[in-house]
Amino acid sequence: MENEPKIPINILITHGFLISMDAGLSIIQDGAIAIEGSRIAAIGTTSTLESQYQPQQIIDASGMFVMPGLINTHTHSGDILFRGLVEDLPLESWLEQLWVAENHFINAESVGWGARLAYIEMVRSGITTALDMFWFPYELAQAAKEVGFHLATGFVFFDSPIADGMLPKERYRLARQFLTQYACDELIIPAVQPHSVYTVSTENLKQASKLAQEFGTLFVTHASETLTEVRNCRRDYGCTPIQYLDRLGALTPRTVLAHCVHLDSDEFDLLSQRGVSVANCPVSNMKLASGIANVSQMLLSGVNVTLGTDGPVSGNDLNLWYTMRLAALVQKTVNHDASLMSTKQVVSMATREGAKALGISAKTGSLEVGKQADIILVQTGRAHSTPSFDPYSSIVYSLGREDVETVLINGRLVMYNRNLLTINETEVIEAVRQLGIQIAIYVSQPNQAEKSQTGIRRKE
Ligand SMILES: [Zn+2]
Repeated sequence: MENEPKIPINILITHGFLISMDAGLSIIQDGAIAIEGSRIAAIGTTSTLESQYQPQQIIDASGMFVMPGLINTHTHSGDILFRGLVEDLPLESWLEQLWVAENHFINAESVGWGARLAYIEMVRSGITTALDMFWFPYELAQAAKEVGFHLATGFVFFDSPIADGMLPKERYRLARQFLTQYACDELIIPAVQPHSVYTVSTENLKQASKLAQEFGTLFVTHASETLTEVRNCRRDYGCTPIQYLDRLGALTPRTVLAHCVHLDSDEFDLLSQRGVSVANCPVSNMKLASGIANVSQMLLSGVNVTLGTDGPVSGNDLNLWYTMRLAALVQKTVNHDASLMSTKQVVSMATREGAKALGISAKTGSLEVGKQADIILVQTGRAHSTPSFDPYSSIVYSLGREDVETVLINGRLVMYNRNLLTINETEVIEAVRQLGIQIAIYVSQPNQAEKSQTGIRRKE
């Protein structure tokens, strides 16, 4: 063995505490990962892999957890431009206020800057993949490629031409084009994203669902987020948003529903039977006082539950560590049951279940040979994370995004020792800061509320 030539590889991560998040939740102490190109070539102990591989670069992960990158299944990256602009309102009036600013400031260029900043923030938080619903998806895809970030996105279906100025017909045409262009991309996962049942007509929802099925791609929408939405849906269509989407044939294993806060008792089994994934967004749901999703019941019914930060206006940051912690705490609290939401379950939601929701389980969501090297190194042993008796407990309750040291996406080093290697972060922050100044001036002008062009459909 000793005389056998070593296999050349690009990167060898050594001396880490490996938390694989594979089906058996394997852990390797003093573990190593060999990376060749975009893939994980081998996983084992450091001594074994050091004897077999000749890396171009060694990353010493001593004192760190090495785990799969986190997956954020619900966000709106471009809304980072309006972070902190609208506060202390429920969803419907909050959206109308936000759309005033969006209508005026959203364009291809501003969205590009916002998306870059959002993906930088997410990389810094150890997020390697996100499902992003926002205007100008070509600019989102471009920004993701610049950062080196995995992005699921696609055209937003919305009846009113707010923000991007497009009518549904034009968006539909471009949605097809986007799905075709990104069908086989290394970083971009194409999706069809009707905003909600209250902003998209029956005809356009059906069209979106058909399009997603034709391309075998994701169908993403908000559903049953607030009591008002459910009440209005009953009034307009005689059923709940979940039942309505099911009637349209939109609930499939490729469907990701954000929120699902207000479900009827029989809808948990329906979502499970249809194989739908839910993006649980506790921060946004609490901040907008939408309610608390019954995640415990979803899990009992076998629904695939994942975690989302939601956009940076309704949650104000893109911190999936905070989301993990809050998701666990709130279920324990509202159900008066401390045994709910084990730490392993919560970390699974933020990794392997997220990959399942996006239809990319075979590629990412866990550290396994042959998968994409979407890997984060997390510093342990600091004052706030010492001692550590259980790694999952540390991840959910002690560690945070500031502990993420190094991030690889698709085998590429995107952040190394907290330094971003792919993009000029200072330039991006400055561009968004300048846009923020213009937004502040605009909203301080009187009568700007009259410019509001709501996208919420109302029946008289
Ligand atoms: Zn949302």
